[in-house]
Amino acid sequence: MNADLTSSLFDIQLVSTRLSDEERQRRMVAPGFGKTFSEHMIVIPYREGEGWLRGQLKPYGPISMSPAANVLHYGQSVFEGFKGYRQPDGGVKSFRPICNAKRFNTSAHRLAMPEIPEDLFCAAADLLATVDQAWIPEALDPEKLHDKSFYFRPFMIGQGEYLGVGSASECLFMIIGGPAGSYFSGGIHPVTIWVEEEYVRASPGGTGQAKCGGNYAASLLPGNLAKAKGCEQVLYLDAIHRQYLEELGGMNVFLVLEEGGRTVIATPEKTGTILEGVTRESLITLAKELGYELCERRISIDEVETAHREGRLKEAFACGTAAVISPIGTFKSRRGDWVVNGNQLGPISMELRGALLDIQYGLKPDTHGWMHRIV
Ligand SMILES: *Cc1c(COP(=O)(O)O)cnc(C)c1O
Repeated sequence: MNADLTSSLFDIQLVSTRLSDEERQRRMVAPGFGKTFSEHMIVIPYREGEGWLRGQLKPYGPISMSPAANVLHYGQSVFEGFKGYRQPDGGVKSFRPICNAKRFNTSAHRLAMPEIPEDLFCAAADLLATVDQAWIPEALDPEKLHDKSFYFRPFMIGQGEYLGVGSASECLFMIIGGPAGSYFSGGIHPVTIWVEEEYVRASPGGTGQAKCGGNYAASLLPGNLAKAKGCEQVLYLDAIHRQYLEELGGMNVFLVLEEGGRTVIATPEKTGTILEGVTRESLITLAKELGYELCERRISIDEVETAHREGRLKEAFACGTAAVISPIGTFKSRRGDWVVNGNQLGPISMELRGALLDIQYGLKPDTHGWMHRIV
């Protein structure tokens, strides 16, 4: 990272005493997902009329704000998620952070919040990872079942002191992060998902394409109801026809189908209501390179049911930064349960997962220029 750029953009305030190596190691053994945070965080305030103010790297800890802050009432909040990976040479690289910076700004625009310069977004993440590099776990196990990495969580909230409905005149951009293990407790295993025919995640003209807190708030009730039915995730259908596959609450979805003797990998096309995952886009590229026929198109739930009945639904998986690829073992719905690939990890899902992890962990050449060197 360019040290001059960093010192011109950020004030740096380090923790007075670092955690001992033993304590850090203890917290990093089985970090789970989103429970363990490193010792610092990034804060960059924004004020209307003044723009982005000087950023700070400071000790990780609580923040305070006015109880009238927009985010607490009207939910102005957007976020991102991407990872840094320990490389074979001991260094650290992140995966396509510029895509996250661009998407962050798309989300910010939709929520009437200020856009942040992409290089500032990336420099902030690099600074956090550089200062807290002891928190970046050692790489992958040889079977690639327990991927460990450093998860970056950039986010922005509307604050200021004003209860009138309007976009906030003050915002706070922050990045927190920490070591992350498997997204699902118990490591990679086929998940059971609930096909949701009542609640929807996003509707045309809404905020489905934005990574905003409100979308997640709305997904919690359907998520809890699905859990009560023994499902780990919810598969949402389109809001108008309640027919076409959209995505899971926080992951995109792919199917492996047999069509006229050919193997086809299919994923719902971009509609403006699905969140355009960086993992989704990367897997589309990799699948094509591996010689698979890949199509982005509308996929109806009737088609999934028929393909399952005819034995043509070979595999299904969900994908996202947090869980990489999560094979779907069973679809549960009001129409019945559809078991995929004997509820086992499927070969194509695992091949694609391996291809992506190989690039992220520096085990195969990064021919697309996706990796960004941090240290
Ligand atoms: C973040 C997210 C995804 C996955 O995006 P990635 O960039 O692959 O991590 C998919 N769907 C939703 C709703 C999301 O919020």
